[in-house]
Amino acid sequence: MSSLKWMEQELASLDDASLKRSLRGSSAVPSSPGRLFRGTGPQNMHNRHNLLNLSGNDYLGLAQHPAMIEVMREVLLKEGVGAGASRLVTGNRLAYTELEEGISEWQSCEAALVFANGYMANTGVIRAVVGRDDVVFSDQLNHASIVDGILMSRAEMARYRHNDMEHLGALLHKHRDRKRKLIVTDAVFSMDGDQAPLKELILLKHEYGAMLMVDEAHSGGVYGRCGEGLCHALGVKDEVDIHMGTFSKAFGAYGAYVCGSRTLIDYLVNKARTLIYSTAMPPALLAGIAQALVLVQQEHWRRERLHTGIRAFRSSLQKSGFLLGIGDSPIVPIIIGDNETALRFSAALEDKGIAAVAIRPPTVPEGTARIRFSLSAAHTDKELRYAAVSIREVGLQLGVLG
Ligand code: PMP
Repeated sequence: MSSLKWMEQELASLDDASLKRSLRGSSAVPSSPGRLFRGTGPQNMHNRHNLLNLSGNDYLGLAQHPAMIEVMREVLLKEGVGAGASRLVTGNRLAYTELEEGISEWQSCEAALVFANGYMANTGVIRAVVGRDDVVFSDQLNHASIVDGILMSRAEMARYRHNDMEHLGALLHKHRDRKRKLIVTDAVFSMDGDQAPLKELILLKHEYGAMLMVDEAHSGGVYGRCGEGLCHALGVKDEVDIHMGTFSKAFGAYGAYVCGSRTLIDYLVNKARTLIYSTAMPPALLAGIAQALVLVQQEHWRRERLHTGIRAFRSSLQKSGFLLGIGDSPIVPIIIGDNETALRFSAALEDKGIAAVAIRPPTVPEGTARIRFSLSAAHTDKELRYAAVSIREVGLQLGVLG
């Protein structure tokens, strides 16, 4: 046991800095999207509280949709639980092809490829398209799965300051003679909720002959007439070489997609190791995602409801005096600064019946610990009003508000 002593010491120092994390039990409140049960202690599901969930990513409130549950149940009974092999062996059910055709149609692109999750999509794709001699230009606030994909690829990582196109331009110029260049960005940044300047990124991509990859994890389903994402909403999707999104957020399910040209998708089938060397997804899950794809496109009222809620919630917090980042995404962070106050803020909200977790380094830069609220179409006006009042009270109580 003493060989793991160093772990104990490391955990103790994380605890001293209010940076230790622990897993807490939580489960959905049946037939009440937007709410969850949470236990009071680590791994503790006794003493459960029914809380308003302001830290989930179920942006359209689909995670408990009866049509998704029903179709998943049917397929589960018919086809069983697991796919039994990777897609290139015997796991490639017809449902994959149908889903990928549906995604290509929705995204108006030549082809699409489904991955087990967003983390595996980003690591698999980046590792497949760049290697040791190449360079990847990555926004400083890109998601960890993008950073890990770059590290796995062994390409040089050129990080540019968040959304700073001048800095990116300078780095592209410095590396202009490199053979393969990839610019990669989140469309909506996961911890700040602001958007990437996609139009400017496209100008730079053309100027330097780079590829552009956009991660729409937090914007797919949320923007665009049929939820196609930010690239569509801004009319730039044809300029994006590698377009990635997830089914784990607005789709209320699990999994991810990459879309683009037929060549890109054929290449990934041959080179993306997270696709090749991992078991295919459970058939029932594919069916659930396919149903979500229909709902995302047809139930426009969910997007409208979400955006109405976002506007009202942001405006209440601003009126209370909180400084919010720019943007109109479902992610609304209030920056607290130090880790301990962020934890106290979160605990005080929980006492008021609200689940809103403190996000601390290394997920966010040092000194920018925050409460990251995320909204859903499942939240009612009344719930959001109650949340805004409670957040103000806690802000005053802890001296975060003047
Ligand atoms: N990209 C971004 C921007 C994300 O926020 C996340 C997850 N939070 C992922 C990728 C990974 O997606 P998944 O949860 O499906 O693995």
